[in-house]
Amino acid sequence: MFLLRRAARTQIFLRCKTLPAVAPKAPHIRSFLTLGIETSCDDTSVAILRGEVYPDSTRSEKISLVYHKTITSSNRIYGGVHPIVSLESHQHNLAPLIKDALSSINTKPDLIAVTRGPGMGAALSVGLDTANGLAACMDIPIVGVHHMQAHALTPRLHYGLNNRTNDIRPSFPFLTLLVSGGHTILLESTGLTEHKLLAASQNIAVGDCLDKAARELLPKEQWGGDGGHVAYGKILEDFAFPNGEADWNFYHPPGTAERDARTESLGGSLYDFRLSAPLTQKDRHLKLMAFSFTGLGTSVERIVRKEGIEEGLKQAVARELFVAAFEHLAKRIHMALEKMGERAKEGIPLVVSGGVASNRFLRHLLRVYFDSKGYSKVELLFPPPALCTDNAAMIAWAGLEMYGAGWETELGSFPLRKWSLDPEAQDGGILGVGRWKRRNVETKAL
Ligand code: AMP
Ligand code: ZN
Repeated sequence: MFLLRRAARTQIFLRCKTLPAVAPKAPHIRSFLTLGIETSCDDTSVAILRGEVYPDSTRSEKISLVYHKTITSSNRIYGGVHPIVSLESHQHNLAPLIKDALSSINTKPDLIAVTRGPGMGAALSVGLDTANGLAACMDIPIVGVHHMQAHALTPRLHYGLNNRTNDIRPSFPFLTLLVSGGHTILLESTGLTEHKLLAASQNIAVGDCLDKAARELLPKEQWGGDGGHVAYGKILEDFAFPNGEADWNFYHPPGTAERDARTESLGGSLYDFRLSAPLTQKDRHLKLMAFSFTGLGTSVERIVRKEGIEEGLKQAVARELFVAAFEHLAKRIHMALEKMGERAKEGIPLVVSGGVASNRFLRHLLRVYFDSKGYSKVELLFPPPALCTDNAAMIAWAGLEMYGAGWETELGSFPLRKWSLDPEAQDGGILGVGRWKRRNVETKAL
């Protein structure tokens, strides 16, 4: 381990020494380069983003990804993310990835954006300490990025990669549903650092629930063994809907005649098992804006283990699980839309991000669900899967947006295992923590 660390440091040192001494560039020039680093969980990811910080209508261009690589640690034998295995994977992979990334540009970057939190403390430290060392060595600014803010801004990155940057979309405000292996949250984003938390999971995340259910429903050879990552949601989706779109016709949202007819024809219970949406009583009585997924996971476990369901019915269980879990998400979003009133009916973007957002049935269900409730103008935005899972491109982008708005992080910041997004939270949200420093910027925000 010691030798490895030494090797990592040596690589960085050599790189710093061999980099040409280029004078720091003004932030608005075309070739502004941001080095992004992500190590908050089990993905070690490095990106280099080329693009302007301050777009204006006369001089705007597309953002481009010069480099983007991610290495996910092998956690399968543990059935979940193992902190030490992840830590060692970051230590082993980060420096070589950075070296590879820097060799793809013939100059030093203008900015380093690194995940500062929330996440696993030791894992975050690998990225943050390395970034601090590089920033000091290269004499360039650093932005310690909030991981969830980066997820929320991902559709703006996606837009910037495909369009000229003078009018980045979606513009604020927009809603974000972040559904990943570690988080299930619904946000209302009204500005770069203003993300109001509308609902969060009371227990496990939806991705975690799907991963646990996948281990109950799928044959062990599909998820066991060593090596590989632990995100089984995709395998479960393929198991539930092997023909993709053609298998979605069974779904009709609650309150429609088709749904009532189906439920009735099956005697109120679809099969011998039952998977009902979580917190339904509380929906009605408390209008509770929270998610809960532990119960669904436990129900699947009970159905498979105790009731010993036939093999042939496991696919039906997987489908019903997706319906129950995703309708639970849809109901909370619907409640938020109702609270917004006319503004939402006229159309507000809803960004769906995080690993679970790559589920194609989720897109279908949300669209059909909102159309049935009179929200056909709610625009659903799903960033591409490669940008939805943890990645350094989104960190680079969030850092670039923050830098463009005048924010930098002082050298020597600590990782933040917990860090709220909402400015009204106890820690003050993104800007509530220490070590931010502000430049004077005279420009419109991206
Ligand atoms: P993240 O934490 O953002 O990296 O996302 C990982 C989570 O997304 C894991 O829980 C995966 O099982 C889940 N996931 C990935 N692809 C899919 C999919 N197609 N359907 C459902 N869940 C998925
Ligand atoms: Zn994430």
